[in-house]
Amino acid sequence: MMPTRPVWAEISRSGLLNNWKLLRSAVHNEADVMAVVKADAYGHNAVACAPLLERAGAKWFGVTCVTEAVALRKVCPDARILVMSGLWGGEAGAIIEHRLAPQVWEPFHFDLLEKAALALGLGPRSVAIHLEIDTGMSRQGVRSFDELEKLLARCSAESPILVEGVMTHFSAPEVLEPDETQSQIARFTTALDVVAKQGHHPVWIHAGNSATAFVPQHLETLKKLAQKHSARLMLRPGLALYGYSPRFTPHSRDAMNRELKPVLAWKTRIVSIRTIEAGESAGYNMTFRASRRTTLALIPVGYADGLNRLLSNCGSALVRGKKVPIAGRVSMDQTILDVTDIPQVEIGDEVVLIGEQGGECITAYDLADATGTIPYEVTCAINARVPRLLV
Ligand code: PLP
Repeated sequence: MMPTRPVWAEISRSGLLNNWKLLRSAVHNEADVMAVVKADAYGHNAVACAPLLERAGAKWFGVTCVTEAVALRKVCPDARILVMSGLWGGEAGAIIEHRLAPQVWEPFHFDLLEKAALALGLGPRSVAIHLEIDTGMSRQGVRSFDELEKLLARCSAESPILVEGVMTHFSAPEVLEPDETQSQIARFTTALDVVAKQGHHPVWIHAGNSATAFVPQHLETLKKLAQKHSARLMLRPGLALYGYSPRFTPHSRDAMNRELKPVLAWKTRIVSIRTIEAGESAGYNMTFRASRRTTLALIPVGYADGLNRLLSNCGSALVRGKKVPIAGRVSMDQTILDVTDIPQVEIGDEVVLIGEQGGECITAYDLADATGTIPYEVTCAINARVPRLLV
């Protein structure tokens, strides 16, 4: 790799494999587990993570779009790849060429696939689709049973389209009271009956993300549903793979986090040190003013790398095993730390933005809490110019 400025993210092989095994055992090996590696594996580098997961037994991967799927196909030639956000004009040919499984629900998705299959002279039932049912998320999926019947009617024995999967997505699987997921499952149950009545027998029925894998009652209901239709149940976890449990309560978040291992550590080094006197300021707009003689350390990471500007004067980093505060505004490419309480500090010292050092730890949850967001956004936001290193 090219020598570069000292900013990098370490992706832990053992962490990823630990979380994969944990998810497999949470579903008692009675359901298949799709590894959701969309958005570059939530910022963890999909083309590095997916082959590791595949060697550990993953057969299915979920990505957002055809571009992500084609990149993944190069490193996982035999995997099944679900394209989760439908398709757009021009993409149907690539879906067929790269043997991708599109998640579809709009009539125009069917138009595009039928047209591409016709142009390629494909025979009946040669393009596998996963039909999405909107059971309450109101985002994607077939909304009414009327629409569902019409779409299914287009998948006759002569059609090039094969209904290989039927799926839905839950809007709040981590919330048990009130249990919105139960009513979504009820709607999914009715939709599956419509599918069966029209003579379609999907191989996979899939629903549920990381949170669902850890809620036994949801898992049990979904397993029974798949059994009823002689199909395989599949879950689609993303976040838990990367070591973060979706939040139920602070207690269960802690309990689960003891077993899940955060996969990504974000690191940098101190590249400059200076001392300012009491009353002097640091950073843009003078939002940090020293109340004492203060040692400041510069790290070459800023909001262009994905370090949220809301961490200005409120975030922290680890230096020599201690938490030190961010002083002043996070700038585009640089951030200043107040390292006054670390007398031995030197240029070249390793700084941890996410991860562990000397028994102290900063997680993506901590950054999410400080910036009013979720851990998903924290890891996804780490920019592509931060190299990911498998360790
Ligand atoms: N399935 C679908 C359709 C999704 O959109 C997502 C994530 O956004 C997932 C599964 C994975 O969810 P999680 O990362 O919460 O496990």
